[in-house]
Amino acid sequence: MNEQEVKDYYLGESFKLTTEFNLESTERQHRGIDLLAKSSTPIYSLTDGTVTKVFNNDQIGGYGIRVKDKDGISYQYLHMKNFPTLKEGQNVAAGDILGLVGNSGLSQAPHVDIKIMKENRFIDPLHYLKGIE
Ligand SMILES: [Zn+2]
Repeated sequence: MNEQEVKDYYLGESFKLTTEFNLESTERQHRGIDLLAKSSTPIYSLTDGTVTKVFNNDQIGGYGIRVKDKDGISYQYLHMKNFPTLKEGQNVAAGDILGLVGNSGLSQAPHVDIKIMKENRFIDPLHYLKGIE
């Protein structure tokens, strides 16, 4: 799977957008998007990059992975089903499986929370997936 195919995958029928990106609201601030999916749906890397953080049952994020690409943009995938098998420092390619959709951390139903950080600012992952600048 190339980068475009992974984007299409997250926009496709396996996932349903339940919480949008919102930095404005003080009560409902959300620095990423929540995509509802069946438990164990594969989570593919959107990009080539290096694993910079593995979340080990974080209170909020649960199990998860952060990948940084060559341009310094970070992609974070949270609430995985299991502790990731990837280790910090490992390289991944677009389309590689990072983990499976789960319900770990602060989560009410199986979903993946995707956050994208560019130059220390969170950007809207939905815009990224849709190719909106
Ligand atoms: Zn979320």
